[in-house]
Amino acid sequence: MWVAVRKSTVIKGSLCACFVVLCCVLCRGLVRERSLRAFSASGIAPPPVAVLDPGHGGEDGGAVSPVGIAESGLNLSIAFRVRDLLRLTGCRVVMTRTEDVSIGDPSLPTVRARKSSDLRRRVEIVNGTENAVLLSVHQNSLPSSPVTRGAQVFWNRRDGGETLSKLIQASLNAGINAGNEKQAYPIPEGVYLMKHAEAPGALVECGFLSNAWETAQLTNEGYQKELAAAIAAGYLRYLSGEGIP
Ligand SMILES: [Zn+2]
Repeated sequence: MWVAVRKSTVIKGSLCACFVVLCCVLCRGLVRERSLRAFSASGIAPPPVAVLDPGHGGEDGGAVSPVGIAESGLNLSIAFRVRDLLRLTGCRVVMTRTEDVSIGDPSLPTVRARKSSDLRRRVEIVNGTENAVLLSVHQNSLPSSPVTRGAQVFWNRRDGGETLSKLIQASLNAGINAGNEKQAYPIPEGVYLMKHAEAPGALVECGFLSNAWETAQLTNEGYQKELAAAIAAGYLRYLSGEGIP
């Protein structure tokens, strides 16, 4: 966190399989065409790269559910699923971390300093990636309202961030959030990575670890696949040039 139904397994599996097949058919061509267009127009523009950022890691577990489930592991698991789907469609992807670790300087003396170092490193990865599009994956928590649930997206203030985030939100609302639709919002200024990333960015709060029902969903493989499919679909819609829904 930074601080925000389910069908049969068979149906979920089929939906995910259909999504993958559709993406393979539609988006390989889409991404390739877009990339070629960009190259041919300017001779220099590289194809977009999704920078997948599983929030937290290592000594920083992020939000923790009442039964002790930390968001850092869920973030990584969901980000891996998004990565795999995007790679299947021919998209270029890099990740800020691929293990349950902090990527900051471990020699720094305090947790706070190491956390700051971790965030600066994530910014370096995003800003060091040409034509990056940032997808940051987190989990929410609101202990004062344990019934609050649902996936919500926040955008940064770079060109394209709002469109990207609203497209991902629309994809989440069509599936995960059906009956509990949410709006995407601009991210508060204090969120370091989103503020300093010089790329369009969406921070996805996949669900609330303060909600026992949703926590159970978030640890479920099928539910994680649905989340990943929605995030990937929103990203692909953004790459296709689709506007704000
Ligand atoms: Zn978080």
